[in-house]
Amino acid sequence: MFTCTGYAATAADARLAPFTFERRDPGPTDVQIDIHYCGVCHSDLHQARNEWRNTVFPCVPGHEIVGIVRAVGAEVTKYSAGDRVGVGCMVDSCRECPSCKAGLEQYCEPGARFTYNSPEADGKGHTFGGYSRQIVVDQDFVLRVPDSIDFAAAAPLLCAGVTTWSPLRRWKVGPGQKVGIVGLGGLGHMGVKFAVALGAEVTLFTTSESKVADGKRLGAHRVVISRDSAAMAAEADSFDFILDAVSANHDINAYLACLKLDGTLVQVGAPEDPLPVSVFGLLMKRRSFAGSLIGGIGETQEMLDFCGEHGITCDVEMIRMDEINEAYERMLKSDVKYRFVIDMATLPEAA
Ligand code: NAP
Ligand code: ZN
Ligand code: ZN
Repeated sequence: MFTCTGYAATAADARLAPFTFERRDPGPTDVQIDIHYCGVCHSDLHQARNEWRNTVFPCVPGHEIVGIVRAVGAEVTKYSAGDRVGVGCMVDSCRECPSCKAGLEQYCEPGARFTYNSPEADGKGHTFGGYSRQIVVDQDFVLRVPDSIDFAAAAPLLCAGVTTWSPLRRWKVGPGQKVGIVGLGGLGHMGVKFAVALGAEVTLFTTSESKVADGKRLGAHRVVISRDSAAMAAEADSFDFILDAVSANHDINAYLACLKLDGTLVQVGAPEDPLPVSVFGLLMKRRSFAGSLIGGIGETQEMLDFCGEHGITCDVEMIRMDEINEAYERMLKSDVKYRFVIDMATLPEAA
């Protein structure tokens, strides 16, 4: 074991603060990574505050990790010291169930081992995430970050990127389709970029009038202010596909009504309370309402490679580690353009 420093929440109502803990020494198939940057996902906030009611404290959040390989175990073949790598929301899975065999590790039947807040493999304690100096991960759950993309701006691809990429690919979004993205936050801004890059006609739905110009700069062909009920009514029955990345409770039926016959709304935003669904809104046009959880390891690499080829990264605002609590408050006000990334060089040496 070695001692690692990081930032943790010790209770749902506690501010994040410096924290020291132990990580395992790299085993034969492990990669030991010096973390350079970690994105700040809204899921970190939900979990640090126990909004999904399953947080194990102390909680070291962070699952949008990029860093440089420091050392590898004796049997590691995929990486070597000095490589630019990433770690997303998972650090392991059973590898044997049908989901794992299909490259859908996030739906592992016994349960994927998530980067934080999951039981450790040895049964002692739970996983700690990327708001920390180093992490040790099995090589099969480490991703390669293309050399051509900015390192800090690549970090949020590991969650916000793949979480939007996966449903867009699964539902075969492409040319000739009218696609809506709801909420211009960390996930939503990547949803807009990917849907545009895949060739769809893209409409951004936002509650924030201040984001209209940015929505267009990011590639959206149209922007609709979702608080404007007349503007929403004008969108009725017209979309093939809508991706909803809203973090808070909101009226899902207003978006279901925008789908045309056989259209699909995929929910990736994960508000803490259930969203009431109008059954008639679904059955009158044979609409589908689906969910999607992050993405598999293979498709995460596919997404990173696509970003490398097309020069796609996230729009990030760099923060110091000690600014994390203020960043959470700003995220709750939808005041982030469009992802906070922690510069891990600002983490104090010792807690
Ligand atoms: P974020 O950066 O905070 O963005 C959320 C956006 O939702 C805001 O920018 C805002 O966009 C909109 N919004 C916020 N409050 C709203 C309200 N009351 N009514 C309507 N719109 C509102 O969050 P994120 O990191 O992108 O995460 C979004 C959600 O996805 C979170 O719940 C997160 O936990 C979840 N998530 C799910 C997965 C998955 O696997 N399914 C993976 C990662 C994250 P506008 O200002 O444009 O309206
Ligand atoms: Zn996330
Ligand atoms: Zn499995």
